[in-house]
Amino acid sequence: MKHAAALRPLLTTWQWQAAAACRGLPSAAFFSPTGERGEARERREQAAKRICAGCPVREECAAFAVALGERHGTWGGLTDKERRGAWRN
Ligand code: SF4
Repeated sequence: MKHAAALRPLLTTWQWQAAAACRGLPSAAFFSPTGERGEARERREQAAKRICAGCPVREECAAFAVALGERHGTWGGLTDKERRGAWRN
């Protein structure tokens, strides 16, 4: 069940990204560079969350990341740590 989204046709699976607020932004805004910790990580994650807050496909994005068990980055306004909490529920 965890990988059910991965089995859908590719266009359907990724179509929602056409409306993403992060389209064209550097992935570094959403993914932690090697060694990032503490306040630097917190600042980057909060900036990513602000972008996600105004995104029209936020729910699709968060659901996608949780369904695929995405381990890294901020998706749908949820950090990897917050998604790990969602997986446990
Ligand atoms: S919710 Fe955030 S990470 Fe997801 S598509 Fe929108 S801006 Fe990008």
